Amino acid sequence: MVLVRPENAYQARLVRLLRDDGPRSRVELGDAVGLSRSKLAAEVDRLVERGLVETAGPAASRGGRRSSMLRVAGGVRFAGVVVGADRISVTVTDGELAVLAGVAEPIDVRVGPEPVLGRAVELVGKLRAELGLAQLTGVGVGLPGPVGFPEGTPASPAAMPGWHRFPVREALAAELGCPALVDNDANVMALGEKHAGVGRTFDDFLYVKLGTAIGCGLVLGGTPYRGATSSAGDIAHLPLTEDGPSCACGETGCLEAYCGDRGLVEAALAAARAGRSTALAARLAEAGTLSVADVVAAAGAGDAAVQALARDAARRLGQVLVGLVSFFNPGIVIIGGAPAGLGHTLLAEIRGVVYRRSAPLATGTMPIVLSDLDDRAGAVGAARLVSDHLFSAG
Ligand SMILES: [Zn+2]
Repeated sequence: MVLVRPENAYQARLVRLLRDDGPRSRVELGDAVGLSRSKLAAEVDRLVERGLVETAGPAASRGGRRSSMLRVAGGVRFAGVVVGADRISVTVTDGELAVLAGVAEPIDVRVGPEPVLGRAVELVGKLRAELGLAQLTGVGVGLPGPVGFPEGTPASPAAMPGWHRFPVREALAAELGCPALVDNDANVMALGEKHAGVGRTFDDFLYVKLGTAIGCGLVLGGTPYRGATSSAGDIAHLPLTEDGPSCACGETGCLEAYCGDRGLVEAALAAARAGRSTALAARLAEAGTLSVADVVAAAGAGDAAVQALARDAARRLGQVLVGLVSFFNPGIVIIGGAPAGLGHTLLAEIRGVVYRRSAPLATGTMPIVLSDLDDRAGAVGAARLVSDHLFSAG
């Protein structure tokens, strides 16, 4: 369906409440937004008339007149596109951001925006055919690099050649025939955590995304904080040392060069070549190279040198988090995208550094946890990104 947007802030709050909390009775909605019965009825009637909200049968009686249940209109469908360095995933959700269908496949983001976005459009088309969906309400997109949010264009992404200033937002909106919003993937995943993960009960938190590209999403007062030029949370290339490992950006000693997947593999190669890990040396001789999966397997098998390098990477991230936590005072820190099988080793080390080195007032009640959403963080977050825009007073 082609969506009309709420006419005022009350309508926006009502439709967002239904998105976030599911169907509610008129009485419950009135209580939640503090509107009088007649004012609420007028706003709800407008939302129903304009096709944003529909009735969902009678509500359980709370005494007196029976109230009807309301929900986000059944025709609302959001698509989410999350592009990673080596993978693309596409999903379709309903108006409450529940995932209805999804598909993911390998892709190399370095081939450039046209083939990657072309494939995204094809995959969205495939899901639409599966679901019998004529029209999308909106599409949210996450990209693995800095994005100028108002324009929806990548901004000098270090590991995405050809993407600088490509009009991703415009191109997808035109191809898919619906509004599109584009953001950095860490911001998108932070929104997913806010909607459906452990971030749900926190208004202020940090989401750190590990993996090939490192990023950090800040949620402040319940909404993403992007900063003056959309680069808030861009921690990948914070310089940690002058003479550290070389980084994809051309510099040395960046956080990503220590803690990104490539950094872990480089450290593992060095350990194998120096004879510090017989398991990795054997694997290297056999395969000719090493992968993150090899690092995880060796650490899991108790290889002391590999565990030490993983802990060293986690300590580096922990030191960065000491600074971020002291500056930002989040309610919780959520770590996503850790290599499967290595998350708990990394988490233990990160916690050790952050709790030992931070002020008690900042971290006394602040949990540091692994995300439990996996791919759903990006899928739900992308849908939330575009729905936050569409479910605001237009
Ligand atoms: Zn770098």
